[in-house]
Amino acid sequence: MMQKPFIRNHQFNVINNEAAYLGRTIRTSSDASVIEAVKYNVETKILAAFPELTDTQKELLLFIIKLRTEQEFQDYLDALAAYRISFPEVTEQLVRELFPKNKKVRQPDPSLQHDYSYTYFGWPDIGTSRMYLIYEHQGEMIGVEGKYSLNCRKDLCCICKGFGEVALVTAISRKKVSGSPEYYKAIGNYMCFKSHECNSRITDPSGLERFIRDVNAK
Ligand SMILES: [Zn+2]
Repeated sequence: MMQKPFIRNHQFNVINNEAAYLGRTIRTSSDASVIEAVKYNVETKILAAFPELTDTQKELLLFIIKLRTEQEFQDYLDALAAYRISFPEVTEQLVRELFPKNKKVRQPDPSLQHDYSYTYFGWPDIGTSRMYLIYEHQGEMIGVEGKYSLNCRKDLCCICKGFGEVALVTAISRKKVSGSPEYYKAIGNYMCFKSHECNSRITDPSGLERFIRDVNAK
């Protein structure tokens, strides 16, 4: 029976990275104990990327440790691609719902969207220097917006932990500055300016979740 999709974008990135690592080790090492140790690491990393798995899903993923040739790794990744979860379609309606206070919310370029290669969806409004992020957490769609300023040099992204072109995104939280009844705390983080590049690297959404939690904490 065909399984339902269960692999999110960042989880697929983990599998992809681990497949490359194991494939490289098999090609370059003749030491069986080294290969065994790497297999163990790969298995641990993949399982750690999934908070929950059925036995069938686990079996499907851990087939990786039986692979040897480049072709077998490729076939494995191709087969798993069928289990990737699509990111929900970002419609104009959804964008308006997620940013209700912003009457001038900028709609994303429809050509940017392509199904499953997103853990979160982000896009800038260059005219007003605002960044919009959409993330699905426990079945709920969440929108966060903030002012951005582009960094003039490459830096570390708080979401994907990659090194690249980042912007400082500052969102106004719901929490008031202590001792001031009128001012709300600003939360700033460096993150990739280009969401699709960030999404191609992200292996763990906890940095993004922390940012969203900080912004939404009262
Ligand atoms: Zn990033």
